[in-house]
Amino acid sequence: MVDNSRNAAMVLEESPNAQLSKTILSKYLDLPQPDDRIQAMYIWIDGSGEGLRSKTRTLTFVPKSVDELPEWNYDGSSTGQSTGMNSDCYLKPVAMYKDPFRRGNNKLVLCDTYNFQYKPLETNHRNSCLQAMTAASDQVPWFGIEQEYTLLDMEGRPFGWPKNGFPGPQGPYYCGVGANKVYARDIVEAHYRACLYAGINIAGSNAEVMPSQWEYQVGPCEGISIGDQLWVSRYLLHRIAEEFGVVVTLDPKPMPGDWNGAGAHCNFSTKSMREDNGIIAIEQAIDKLSKQHLRHIKAYDPRGGKDNERRLTGAHETSSIHDFSAGVANRGSSIRIPRQVAEDKKGYLEDRRPSSNCDPYSVSEAIVRTVCLNE
Ligand code: ADP
Ligand code: MN
Ligand code: MN
Ligand code: MN
Ligand code: MN
Repeated sequence: MVDNSRNAAMVLEESPNAQLSKTILSKYLDLPQPDDRIQAMYIWIDGSGEGLRSKTRTLTFVPKSVDELPEWNYDGSSTGQSTGMNSDCYLKPVAMYKDPFRRGNNKLVLCDTYNFQYKPLETNHRNSCLQAMTAASDQVPWFGIEQEYTLLDMEGRPFGWPKNGFPGPQGPYYCGVGANKVYARDIVEAHYRACLYAGINIAGSNAEVMPSQWEYQVGPCEGISIGDQLWVSRYLLHRIAEEFGVVVTLDPKPMPGDWNGAGAHCNFSTKSMREDNGIIAIEQAIDKLSKQHLRHIKAYDPRGGKDNERRLTGAHETSSIHDFSAGVANRGSSIRIPRQVAEDKKGYLEDRRPSSNCDPYSVSEAIVRTVCLNE
């Protein structure tokens, strides 16, 4: 069928950002920048627990470490984090990265958030995560998170999908190659390099089972740094897609029906799991996890399990949200022991339950409290 509405629709769905010339911008980014004028992009998590906000300030020195960075504030009544009457919230710099957009000595500054009495805001899950990581530091917890995401056009339809229908059924898209198999690889490639430049420990990327769904992995990262790095990698992804006029969603089930959802599998190990016969420690950890299924489901999406209800159905390579299960190489279980780990008798386990829009601070905190701190 010939779709005559396509050209008109293409114009509507296009983001105004995509139409702006990026060549003109380069002219200004190429201007010499004074040595003592650094741009620092402060980034924080907003009141939704999912959204990121950012704003820039000039520093008159080149910061060498995060503790040289000044605290700052913002209007929490505009981010769902305070009332208008008492709107000032504090930004405390916690991690610093190179800025791949502005380059040079310019920085990205991840912050956690506090109210006027210096109490952590409700969506500041970093504060308690850090306490857990500090208490468990002798066990040297490592995390690797597989971040799945879906690209959308400005109308909220998966990017590149036909206007009045659906792509062919799942099968050819996972790790696919070719114009009829994957969409917007440009974004994936740009994001990978931007992560490397910034200093994010990105481990890989692949096209996913549903067309316009992709994955990248961050890790292994020790302790609190998995949360820091994953949040900044998400910021980079949203920013790069913005330049292309494409929207990134971390919704765990963007398309109902026979389409895969999106998760954030969390791979986890302690020092003893990585040593010879670490499989014993891995099995002990799985036993502890089996007794805390509900705690983990509550921590694994921003709505206490509501989002994951749509995804963890038992179909599409997921386990049921209601049951705990574990198995070697089993992608239909809550916890998977990778085949290689079973063979080597050491390594790590994979918790497949976290939703793509999870807060990695909440996920890593729950795992450490259950497995390392026996809470
Ligand atoms: P999958 O086979 O589930 O698709 P991936 O290759 O996508 O797995 O992701 C595996 C992740 O596990 C990577 O992020 C990697 O860094 C991480 N990882 C590898 N070894 C360990 C370990 N010992 N502890 C924690 N994470 C690890
Ligand atoms: Mn103002
Ligand atoms: Mn993977
Ligand atoms: Mn995947
Ligand atoms: Mn996985």
